[in-house]
Amino acid sequence: MPTESFDVVVVGGGTAGTFAASTVADAGLDVVLLERKSESNAGHIACGDAIKGKSTFPDVIDREYLKDESFTNENIQYARFENPQTEETLEIPFEEAGAVVDRRRYGEVLLEESERLGVDIRYNQVVQDVIQEKGQVKGVHSSQNGDQTTFEAEMVIDAAGAMSILQDQVDFSESTFDTKVHFQQFCSAYREVIEVEDPVEYDDSIVFMPTAELGYLWYFPRTETMINAGLGFQMNKPPMKLVDHLKKDVRSRSEFENAKVIDKLGAALPTRRPYDSAVAPGYAAVGDAAAPVNPATGGGIPGAAKAGHWAAEAAIKGIENGDVSEDALWEYNRKVMTDFGKRFAAIDLYNIWAGTHNVDELTGIVTALPGQALIDALGKGAAGMSLGLKLDTLRRTFGHWKTLFGLYRVHQQALKLKAVYDDYPRDPDGFEDWRARRDEIYDTVYEISGADPKY
Ligand SMILES: Cc1cc2nc3c(=O)[nH]c(=O)nc-3n(C[C@H](O)[C@H](O)[C@H](O)COP(=O)(O)OP(=O)(O)OC[C@H]3O[C@@H](n4cnc5c(N)ncnc54)[C@H](O)[C@@H]3O)c2cc1C
Repeated sequence: MPTESFDVVVVGGGTAGTFAASTVADAGLDVVLLERKSESNAGHIACGDAIKGKSTFPDVIDREYLKDESFTNENIQYARFENPQTEETLEIPFEEAGAVVDRRRYGEVLLEESERLGVDIRYNQVVQDVIQEKGQVKGVHSSQNGDQTTFEAEMVIDAAGAMSILQDQVDFSESTFDTKVHFQQFCSAYREVIEVEDPVEYDDSIVFMPTAELGYLWYFPRTETMINAGLGFQMNKPPMKLVDHLKKDVRSRSEFENAKVIDKLGAALPTRRPYDSAVAPGYAAVGDAAAPVNPATGGGIPGAAKAGHWAAEAAIKGIENGDVSEDALWEYNRKVMTDFGKRFAAIDLYNIWAGTHNVDELTGIVTALPGQALIDALGKGAAGMSLGLKLDTLRRTFGHWKTLFGLYRVHQQALKLKAVYDDYPRDPDGFEDWRARRDEIYDTVYEISGADPKY
């Protein structure tokens, strides 16, 4: 079997892999990116294509070029929630405009940019196994149309997405790498890109509505006549017929009369807290392969870009110092946890709580709250409401107080959880103690909500 050697092997050419590989190449190291798809199909990924206003991408690629080429709608001002039962709509304004992208072009530009920065990209390479010696990952075995190649490296960055097979191959028994991962912590999602004849009136909003399976259905306008429509369900709930459900909803909406479906794709995404540790000697997992995804919205693009960049920075430093042990790569874990990791873990607590209520009850509460009260509560907390509004809120939510009190208690735990994540250890020594403190909070939330343990 032919063998090739690099400083770093990156597996997967999505957002996380391209940002990781670009960062390594930009630092002057030799990096190969192995992508199982063909060159013409790489970058074609199932996604809702929406990017939140405040999200920033690491400054390693040409961000202006990425925007010019692929950000087709940069005027997303509202998240609009539709209640299918009452047909009421709630619009929550964003502090800063968000965007919807042409996801395929976005993926292609990231690969183009990686190549420009010096990444050696190999398409049609399906990574099947890892090389591991005395616990340290030293490379991968890959197959291209049946021809096997060994790629040796100081570091392997696993950016192979939510269903990464690398994690089935690495022996993590001597490392801190998070192995408490189960498909029930994932969401199964499907989306279509639909072209409509006339401009939609919600081209400045991303539109959501809840579904019974505790997922949501969405309409995200790429342009005023090109809509990304999709839905997903939590895999701890009974399976949902995604295609049929979407078709039914699309048919019920007048704006989709005579519409054409121009693309369809489905995938799983990790709607769980980020991995407690995403490193092992010579190895780091990034993007969906380590779950830096908002578990409520499924938004994973910005987290994948940042995680890829930070893991690459840790790898570069490790290689320069001749040390790619867990200790040496640990800073990557800490950056994720003390940045968006704490927020995503807190959101995970609300998901666990919400999973014990049915969607009618949850939409009932949202409908009962006066729209402005909800916006105020989301922005400033109840302290920002006037006394009259507070009393009105109490009156309208009568019948839901027990549920709201449960939510309040979960909220208190979420605040505590954020503080624990801010205190993520500086090296692997403090890891088990930290985990025990964190797990106590989860136990309290299981007790408050009556939910089965998620982890
Ligand atoms: C339906 C859906 C809607 C979504 N909507 C949004 C949204 O609106 N906004 C948002 O921010 N996020 C959204 N997400 C999440 C977002 O798409 C992901 O979080 C993000 O794409 C993760 O990037 P990644 O690079 O980690 O993984 P991916 O983009 O999945 O890339 C992984 C790459 O690895 C390759 N690969 C896998 N296995 C191998 C192997 N063995 N060998 C070689 N290559 C391999 C794959 O071909 C792929 O190119 C959505 C996800 C889904 C499924």
